[in-house]
Amino acid sequence: MRKIALIAHDKKKKDMVALVCEFKERLEREFLVGTGNTGKLIVKEHGLKVKIMASGPLGGDQQIGSMVTTGEVDTVIFLRDPLTAQPHEPDITALMRVCDVHAVPLATNLTSARLILDEILEK
Ligand code: PGA
Repeated sequence: MRKIALIAHDKKKKDMVALVCEFKERLEREFLVGTGNTGKLIVKEHGLKVKIMASGPLGGDQQIGSMVTTGEVDTVIFLRDPLTAQPHEPDITALMRVCDVHAVPLATNLTSARLILDEILEK
């Protein structure tokens, strides 16, 4: 079972809902964790089981970073909005850093997210 973290900045939440819709049947079999608002949205829109962490600005990215470090997360889909300043930018940078430290696949936009999910999820 893959352990996938799902995070989307506010302007990318619609994209996340669409992405999860595309891969829903394959994601159902995996362990999913999300930052607060992203996770709740996926539960509401798709009824998938998602472990909900704190919202991003309240430390959710750090919680997920810690899960990457301990091996509780092995793939990160993080739909970032590079055009809007985020108050928790240092946490976001730290999460991306630990992904690189542990060679955990990290997608930061819809296209790379599709490529990674298509590769790792069983058909
Ligand atoms: P959210 O956090 O899912 O709680 O909105 C995402 C983020 O801003 O990192």
